[in-house]
Amino acid sequence: MIQIKHKYDCCGCSACMQICPKKCISLKEDKEGFLYPSINSSDCIDCHLCERICPIMNVGSPQKDVSVFAVTNSDEEIRMQSSSGGVFTLLAQKVINEGGVVFGAKFNDKWEVVHGYSETIEGLSQFRGSKYVQSELGNCFVDAKFFLNRGRKVLFSGTPCQIAGLHNYLRKHYDNLLTVDFVCHGVPSPGIWRKYLYEVFHHSTYKKNTASASSLNSMPVITGIEFRDKTLNGWKKFSFVVRGKSALKTDKNSVLLSDMHKDNLYMKGFLRNIYLRPSCYHCAFKSFRSQSDITLADFWGVEKFYPEMNDDKGVSLAFTCNRSLKEFLLSVCAKEIPLKYAANQNPSIFRSVRMRRNRDLFFSDLKKGKDLLESIEKRARWDRRETFRLTLIKLLEKVHLLNLIKKIIR
Ligand SMILES: Cc1cc2nc3c(=O)[nH]c(=O)nc-3n(C[C@H](O)[C@H](O)[C@H](O)COP(=O)(O)OP(=O)(O)OC[C@H]3O[C@@H](n4cnc5c(N)ncnc54)[C@H](O)[C@@H]3O)c2cc1C
Ligand code: SF4
Ligand code: SF4
Ligand code: SF4
Repeated sequence: MIQIKHKYDCCGCSACMQICPKKCISLKEDKEGFLYPSINSSDCIDCHLCERICPIMNVGSPQKDVSVFAVTNSDEEIRMQSSSGGVFTLLAQKVINEGGVVFGAKFNDKWEVVHGYSETIEGLSQFRGSKYVQSELGNCFVDAKFFLNRGRKVLFSGTPCQIAGLHNYLRKHYDNLLTVDFVCHGVPSPGIWRKYLYEVFHHSTYKKNTASASSLNSMPVITGIEFRDKTLNGWKKFSFVVRGKSALKTDKNSVLLSDMHKDNLYMKGFLRNIYLRPSCYHCAFKSFRSQSDITLADFWGVEKFYPEMNDDKGVSLAFTCNRSLKEFLLSVCAKEIPLKYAANQNPSIFRSVRMRRNRDLFFSDLKKGKDLLESIEKRARWDRRETFRLTLIKLLEKVHLLNLIKKIIR
């Protein structure tokens, strides 16, 4: 039976829960707002299946000979709705047109992020766009297996740890499965996301940090959330936008909140790593270890390599070892680039983000009952001493001095 000694030893992929033959594993939210398995040991038959398929206990090897392409979707509308170049939709449409099923992350009616599936082209819109919250998978691995065993094509998209969890759960290769993940910075806490929405939209004390805040009444109705809106300030300076209606803004698609990502409190806390899942600071799936067929990312720095593609509407990077996917990408005019160049612009390909002491301070603020928005504001500030410490560690690591010092201390 699975036992989690340290929080960072569980990425919350739910593979153990979905495989347990006795259904004795359920997922429970911890104080930080992340889901972890909880086992009813009296029903456990010690079959060890959960341990055998856990992607953190059975980490894959890094993929070698990965080719990298710069790609955009030629449908401008779809590209504008997507986080980078809209490659996910290109692949998903192909699978649906071949009679397949597509799994991805979407919002539910409470604006929580959950996984689901679609069998139609129209249904793909709910999956488009990055949602910076850990998604709840429910029974999606079970559902995907159901379709695969019936010979349907399945595209499953998710974080690298979710894709590794799916592969381990399936325990065999399916020719009709296409897995799509992305270069992953880390996932924020669903509990913090829930609190943030409550504080901003349902709590009358919210007054600062958005130009449009004064127009919010206590109970607006949200109709859309985009973490990466490109329509207002472009792809590079993307905005966090919430649409809906309120007492003052009666059109159901009015902009209730619109902040540049660097000014929005929730995005600041995410990008400064104060409420990511513990496993994200020690991610076991870097260097393409998820065994995903294709990995997507933003092509930051495109202007230096392919200036002609730099229209600020979004360009994707696609990493793959799969020959038929390479042929498909070339057929949609993708351009190859060296892995070294892509990696220089996107450190999350190979490295986890560092845990700062501000993360502990943030969660201890909440434990003491302090205000969420004020705590994010305070703890997301760069702490000069901490930044100096981390830069020094990075430098020492580069010249291999840190390991030497550690050995001497020991
Ligand atoms: C939490 C998170 C962290 C990321 N970190 C980086 C990074 O450090 N560097 C980088 O270059 N790119 C990162 N990305 C990926 C990037 O933002 C785009 O998703 C990627 O470039 C593909 O974009 P697209 O235009 O092809 O498609 P989009 O239409 O943007 O594709 C969205 C796809 O992502 C999936 N998805 C969205 N939110 C989630 C979620 N919460 N959990 C699981 N799957 C989700 C959807 O199912 C869909 O398949 C991250 C994405 C997420 C969700
Ligand atoms: S050992 Fe088997 S029965 Fe027990 S929790 Fe794990 S999967 Fe379930
Ligand atoms: S990583 Fe996944 S399989 Fe392993 S314990 Fe956590 S939820 Fe279960
Ligand atoms: S950083 Fe790693 S552990 Fe965290 S969500 Fe991404 S793939 Fe999973």
